[in-house]
Amino acid sequence: MARMNLRDRLTGRAGFAVLAELTGGPGFSFEPIEEFLGAYQQAASGGTGAIPAGFDLAGITLPQSPGGVANIEPGSVISVLQAKGLLEGLDVVPHVTCKDMNADAIVSSLMSLRKMGVRNVLALTGDKPVKAQGVFELESLGLLRLIKRINQDAYLQARPQSLADVHQFFAGAAVSPFKYSEASQMQQYYKMGKKIACGAEFLIAQVGWDWRKSLELFTYMRENVLTVPVIGNVYLLSTLTPAPRLMHDIKLPGCFVSDDLLAKVNAERVDDHLERAAQQVAVYKAMGAAGVDLGGVHNFELFTRILQRAAEIGPNWEQFKDNLHWPPRVRIDDCGVRISGPETDPKSEIRNPRSQEVFYLYDESGARAGLSTPRPTFRKRFFDFTHRAILDPEHSGFHAFQKTMAVLGADKGKGAVYKLFNSSEKSFKYLLFECEECGDCFLPENFSLCTIGGCEKGMDNAPCGDATVDGRCGNNLDRICIGERIYQAAASEDLKSQISDARGRARLRATINKPRNPALEHTSSILNYLFAKDHTMKAPLIAIGEAIHASIPKTGKIMKQLHDLGPGAYTTVSEPLEYIKALIETQADEGANYIAVNLDAFAEDNPQQAVDMMIEYVRLVRKWGHGAPICLDSSNDNVLIAGLKEWYASESQISNLKSQIRRPPLINSVKVYTMDKMLPLKKDYDFSFIGLLVSEDKPAGPGGSHSVDELYGLAKQIYERAVGQYGFRPEQIFFDSTVFPLAIDMPMEPGVPGYTYRTFETIRKIKGDPAMKGVHCSLGISNSVRDLPARKIGVCRAYVAKAMEYSLDAGIVNTSHQYGSVEPPAELLDLVAAYAQLDGSTERMSKAMELMGQFCRENRKSS
Ligand code: SF4
Repeated sequence: MARMNLRDRLTGRAGFAVLAELTGGPGFSFEPIEEFLGAYQQAASGGTGAIPAGFDLAGITLPQSPGGVANIEPGSVISVLQAKGLLEGLDVVPHVTCKDMNADAIVSSLMSLRKMGVRNVLALTGDKPVKAQGVFELESLGLLRLIKRINQDAYLQARPQSLADVHQFFAGAAVSPFKYSEASQMQQYYKMGKKIACGAEFLIAQVGWDWRKSLELFTYMRENVLTVPVIGNVYLLSTLTPAPRLMHDIKLPGCFVSDDLLAKVNAERVDDHLERAAQQVAVYKAMGAAGVDLGGVHNFELFTRILQRAAEIGPNWEQFKDNLHWPPRVRIDDCGVRISGPETDPKSEIRNPRSQEVFYLYDESGARAGLSTPRPTFRKRFFDFTHRAILDPEHSGFHAFQKTMAVLGADKGKGAVYKLFNSSEKSFKYLLFECEECGDCFLPENFSLCTIGGCEKGMDNAPCGDATVDGRCGNNLDRICIGERIYQAAASEDLKSQISDARGRARLRATINKPRNPALEHTSSILNYLFAKDHTMKAPLIAIGEAIHASIPKTGKIMKQLHDLGPGAYTTVSEPLEYIKALIETQADEGANYIAVNLDAFAEDNPQQAVDMMIEYVRLVRKWGHGAPICLDSSNDNVLIAGLKEWYASESQISNLKSQIRRPPLINSVKVYTMDKMLPLKKDYDFSFIGLLVSEDKPAGPGGSHSVDELYGLAKQIYERAVGQYGFRPEQIFFDSTVFPLAIDMPMEPGVPGYTYRTFETIRKIKGDPAMKGVHCSLGISNSVRDLPARKIGVCRAYVAKAMEYSLDAGIVNTSHQYGSVEPPAELLDLVAAYAQLDGSTERMSKAMELMGQFCRENRKSS
């Protein structure tokens, strides 16, 4: 029988998976790992049954420089083990961390792992390097998103007939339930949710010795419908190694051993240590974990003894509760204040004055604890006030400030005023916010706190898992963990609310910060924000993602493969469905405002098939579009209507999501001759629409084509009917004056303007009409480059840039090209400009022909 891989084992909950966490020995030695696996392979080949029934040794995990101390690379370990045949029958889960690699280096490392056939990875922020400079350009969320993108690209680049061979990483993440301040613990749970949203498909718990906390994790996940498999972490805490002392003394950040537990371990024999580890394995198995990651034991015989004992204990672990419950102690000080703290070491256990309780989210009866509502700090109030006064676009102060700085020339990013402002901003923000001049400021997202200056790792999304039990930074005990402070600031926004997770905490729970833009470092973050150069920059174009179009040969083929799978095709995991998922998710991640679906190629033979398929695709966009509404794109009104109805029928799927997800869908398209059929649907189903400026009437313009005035007249008719009769708002209307390929945009007779000229001038006329204020203009950009020999993306960029000069503000586009944000090459801009000015004069016609001729000569592909 074929061996089951870790993904199938965990997601299918097939048995109880055991992973062995193996690290190199002193002096960068591979020996401990090789010895362990050698013993395992011997036992497996001899059929000795060393692993008890009910437990499967599924694989090994390989930490990367654990504790921030340089060690052998997991990638090298894997190649050595593969060469020696020691990984036979086992999965491998290398840790991938952000501590000593920038984003590019991580990609390279993942590519090497892919080449080796590695499928599972544990994505971690990583420990702060002890001696070297930490990198942390990404942290766990950024890393998970990166892996997800690699997975999506692998599908998108595959040939339709090779989808089954596409490599996919199965990415896991860490979570710690072993935090004892409310802020640290809730931040861990919030971040766990964010990790899952960013692509974590399984979780491995942090190490800890408190069954109530282990149970808390499972209860929280159930309560919040987080269904990914969890692997419990079991560590052989034994005096055989210095680990108990190091964990107790906060020398291994994130791992906590209480005074009492250390004393107990020191007084015990190794057999007692093995017994506790076995009890922990039994706890996780009984609580519903998909497996355990068993570390701290490189001796295969001891490893199997732990499992055998766990098998004996079975579900009867509760008799050992006391041996598995080692929270920090809480004591009452001389003044009667309830505090926690050790009698022995004033640096250990709970010293953070904000954190005076040992926090459990659920009491022993399972009832949820209330959450605190601290008062906002002076800094928070000051930040909120100034931000509202001069940096909130909703208030007039923002516009006055922006105008003043623009008049002074500070918007250019250079000059005396800019330099003066930048230097004062730096000292002011350093004093108040520990600002480190990243230039791409996330203080508003982080509730007035800086995660660069205020965090030892300078993470985009705090916290990591290193905080001590009382919420101090495990890497600098003089500091309260920034994650703790952010939580307190967020919770202070809930002061007036009776609902414990409302407002601030809800925002914190949903906020995932993007990586900062490194190009902005040391520039003025306030001016970058004011003039939209930082991460708050809005895309210049409303992007309608065009990738799901059945007439694109590869996509159409895969859509057909998917449809041919028959009943359940759109709900059961398959390679074609994964491909479509990747198409939807990547467009959403690239900022698509709408995700278009066009199935007209299927309607040619069977119109009903296109209707049925559109219903399925509406559901898929709902599910994977991250809130971007669908653009129902069809020349068949029945397909449009079926899709629109399904959009609202499937609304219940997203009832718990944010309001932006409720943005109405877009219909492409409505024409003057279909508007009285389509627009009345607004009464029951709200939608925006693209008004396509085509007519069944004979064109009356020069050369037998529609003139700019005629096209504008069509827009007027649609506008008046939509707004005046059917209650659409102007911003719900997108006019499309249609695109003609530049390569063949040559009027047949003199005096006739070119197509592009009419397209652009119509946009200008519509947008310049005060009576239609608020409407959008959109074009299907890719049509412009049909039949060009090369440089199609560059020409599209130039086409968009030129059309934007005429006030185009939306487009059906390939979202990955970020049109409107990247400067097009000057010569391509000149080429498009020549067509935009093709008003019928001979002189302009010659100019356009000359530029097109030159373009084709320079770019003709050699045959
Ligand atoms: S401040 Fe918090 S998030 Fe930053 S390194 Fe320390 S423990 Fe981790």
